[in-house]
Formats: sequence, structure tokens, C-alpha cells
Amino acid sequence: MELLIKNLEKKYSNGVQALDNVSLEIGKGMFGLLGPNGAGKSTLMRTLATLQDVDKGTITLGAIDLLNDKDALRQVLGYLPQEFGVYPRTSAEELLNHLALLKGIASKTDRKYIVDQLLIKVNLWEQRKKAVSNFSGGMRQRFGIAQSLIGNPKLVIVDEPTAGLDPGERNRFYNILSEIGENIIVILSTHIVQDVRELCNNMAIMDKGKVLFSGSTDDALLAVKGKIWAQKVEKAEISDYNEKYQVLSSKLVAGRPLIHIYSDTNPQNNFTIAEENLEDVFFAKLKELV
Ligand code: ADP
Repeated sequence: MELLIKNLEKKYSNGVQALDNVSLEIGKGMFGLLGPNGAGKSTLMRTLATLQDVDKGTITLGAIDLLNDKDALRQVLGYLPQEFGVYPRTSAEELLNHLALLKGIASKTDRKYIVDQLLIKVNLWEQRKKAVSNFSGGMRQRFGIAQSLIGNPKLVIVDEPTAGLDPGERNRFYNILSEIGENIIVILSTHIVQDVRELCNNMAIMDKGKVLFSGSTDDALLAVKGKIWAQKVEKAEISDYNEKYQVLSSKLVAGRPLIHIYSDTNPQNNFTIAEENLEDVFFAKLKELV
């Protein structure tokens, strides 16, 4: 089953064009939607989750016309929003059971089986009697995944999932996501390049409502191969380098900035060729260098 997004347009009443002719083809597996804040990711995610409309365009998931048959889409959708807002004092087990009932799983035995399986899958079995309101950030996100998987969705939408998670929690979250992504379409929206690098074979880069790149992560890297150069500089020199070169990023390594620049040819002046990474691609695309 494929998700086909064609020529989506969305302008908010304040005049912001949040989606500008967005088209994407997304197949089975983990798909990363990468973009800075304000790129239009959440607008797209909420549209896919049938929570808001666009002005123009079409979306189909297999035979389902998403924008015109929201009920059909909701039957096969799992959604993990940025924030749930309310975390009830109910236990994880009870809350999942309740959500399964809302999803139409009428048999108590079926619900018990599904809830147990989900709790095991997201490593919350031991904590199943605890109130969700007392969960840590990581546990809440794992609970979020569990609820999004009720009813065997074909499409799961995950919006900015790792903000505020410590490295251990993030790893656990990643592992669960990548397991899920083997059989269905999972779209992961994030501004964190590392999330996409670690999890996704296919990706898109968005900025200001437009899709700047869509394809495999390998192809994305090819776009800048041999054109990324690195050098450790002094903090005070950064503005000079910004003037002279196309600086993509500056990161502190042991207290000193390591800059990555984009250049078709060898820039000389102590720069050495660097192994390209997705962050380079991201910034090169945002700066419209590639
Ligand atoms: P992202 O998720 O990539 O940060 P969003 O889809 O949230 O991007 O926002 C895209 C643009 O649309 C931003 O400029 C944002 O301020 C604007 N925007 C988002 N939601 C609304 C809204 N409900 N009303 C008006 N403008 C909005």
C-alpha cells in the first residue's frame, strides 16, 4: 500500500502558506519528514491524521481517498501527536483498554489480548498498573506508540517524538519504532537530523511549506558527496568564515568550533574533505546550494 500526496496547498487565515504544492510518494517502511520549525511538517501531519483540511490537492492511501473519506482512513490510522495535553490518572492498562473500546474492539477478551501485547511491545508491561500521569517523558512516548497501534493501523504518524527524551529513552523509542516500520507506513516528522539518519531509508526535506528533497537517504547524501569540507577554527573567526564560505554548520568539538562548509572545489586554506552527513544535506538544501 502506498500513500500518495499530490499538490497540497494550505494557506492559514493569517496569510501563512504552510503547504506549497507538496507532493510525496511514501511506501512501506519508516519515512522521515525533516524540516526546521515552521516548515509545515505539523500541518502536513495533522492533514494526514484527518484533523484538518487543505485548500487544494489529493491524498490517497491505497484505495482510500483520505480527504473525502476520513472515516475510512481513521480505521487504518495510528497517530502519535507531539503532546497529548492531558495525562489521566488512570493506569496504562486501563487507558489502553478504554482506547481500544473507543476504536471499536467490542470483545473484552480481544481487548485484553491486544492491550497485553501492546504493553509488552513497548516495554511497559512492568509499569502497566501505574498511572500514565506519573510516567516519565520516555514512558509517555512509548505509551503513545502503544495507543497509536491499537487496531493494527496501516499508516502511523509520529510528530516530533524525541524532544525531551534522554539518550536511553530515545534508543528504546527508536527500537520500537523501527520494529513497527517493517510492515506498515510510518511517517516520522522531526527537526532532528539524527532521528532520520538512524531510522529512515526514505525521507523528505521541507522548508517554508515546500518539499526541497524527497528520496532515499543514500541519494540525499550523494547530492553533497565530495563537496563538504571541514576545519577546526577559533570562535572569533567564525564570522570571517561565514563571509568567505558557504558555512553549513558549526559544532563545538572539545570546546572548539568545527565548521562544515559547502564547496564544489577544494577551498584550500587548511580545509580537509569531510565525510558527508545528513545534516550537511539538510543545510545545503535549506541554503539552496544543491
Ligand atoms: P512545523 O511543524 O514544521 O514547525 P507548522 O506546520 O506547525 O510547521 O507551521 C507552518 C507555518 O504555519 C508556520 O509559519 C506556523 O506559524 C503557521 N501555522 C501553523 N498553524 C497555524 C494556525 N493554526 N494558524 C495560523 N498559522 C499557523
